[in-house]
Amino acid sequence: MTTLKHRIRVPEPRRGSLSRAAQYEWRLFLGAEAHLYPRAQLSADWPPMVKPWCEEKRPAARRHERSAIGAERLLSPRVAIRCPVCGHLKRAANAEARCGQA
Ligand SMILES: [Zn+2]
Repeated sequence: MTTLKHRIRVPEPRRGSLSRAAQYEWRLFLGAEAHLYPRAQLSADWPPMVKPWCEEKRPAARRHERSAIGAERLLSPRVAIRCPVCGHLKRAANAEARCGQA
């Protein structure tokens, strides 16, 4: 007897991370605005263009040139410079991760 098929389908948090947001970090773009960029892409030399989280779902996603992205990780960028879409996606991912653990 198995209980697997009776389970409620809840999106599971990714392995090794409580939230998808852990895969992204804030960086300054063009010295003026902060976006969340995928760590895997930031840590590699390729690709030359990096897609911020807010552009991932767009049909014609704008990528940011690596040289225009700040080298320093921002822990908590000021609201005035923080991309609202990236901020929303991070909050949503964290909320989803919390629900998945309940
Ligand atoms: Zn953004």
